[in-house]
Amino acid sequence: KEYRLRNGRHSSTLKAVNNVSFSIDSGRTVALVGQSGSGKSTLAKLLMQLEKPTSGSITLDGAPVSRRGAGLRQYRSDVQMVFQDPFASLNPYHTIAHHIGRPLILHGKAKGRDEVLAGVAKLLERVRLDPDMAQRKPHELSGGQRQRIAIARALAPEPKILVADEPVSMLDVSIRLGVLNLLADLQREENLGVFYITHDLATARHFSDEILVMFKGEIVERGPADDVILNPQHEYTQLLAEAAP
Ligand code: ATP
Ligand code: MG
Repeated sequence: KEYRLRNGRHSSTLKAVNNVSFSIDSGRTVALVGQSGSGKSTLAKLLMQLEKPTSGSITLDGAPVSRRGAGLRQYRSDVQMVFQDPFASLNPYHTIAHHIGRPLILHGKAKGRDEVLAGVAKLLERVRLDPDMAQRKPHELSGGQRQRIAIARALAPEPKILVADEPVSMLDVSIRLGVLNLLADLQREENLGVFYITHDLATARHFSDEILVMFKGEIVERGPADDVILNPQHEYTQLLAEAAP
């Protein structure tokens, strides 16, 4: 992905993600680590089709993804994302029931008030939250609860792939593990493919099957989590592995 940058009359391009190739299988977690600005979120945005690749392609179940029409709608339900900041992605004026119920309706998973409310209750249960959270608004929840709502909303369309871009980095250290364990449980229970973006090599190791290391827009190292951490090849990975507890 090249970003075109304009500065007055001058324009230049920045290759944010270059020559990257990988796959996410269902029931597996692939972690992406890399320093700030290395292109991790750009890769997530490409997967979500929020950005268009300058060249290259994305396939789902072996078929190239469609950029419009029914194919795009299907892709948008198959690939869901959880963002770093749970508050920023929730509307302060809408109830939790609205946040989770809307994608259920939009993606045809429930219709009519009773069915939608039952679907919302089920999703709240799946992220281990009390069903009476449904009538609350985002500001009436803790940060960890808000991130669980964002996860429940992402699960509503019954996706195959969940992209989590630093899902716990804005949360209190003491509740991070709870949210990561929830993601790991869901991955097993739903056979989800999870793309877990993080700065934290230790959680990448614990929660993923494979680690990709990104440096200046390219994947410079990859492999089973233990291999990458115990036997890092690239200078940046060595630095990360030394710093990891
Ligand atoms: P962090 O760990 O800090 O979240 P990151 O690895 O997610 O970093 P990206 O957000 O992918 O990094 O950014 C990669 C590069 O692309 C950065 O230099 C950034 O400034 C640039 N970039 C990101 N989005 C855009 C955009 N929409 N237009 C122009 N440049 C962008
Ligand atoms: Mg980022």
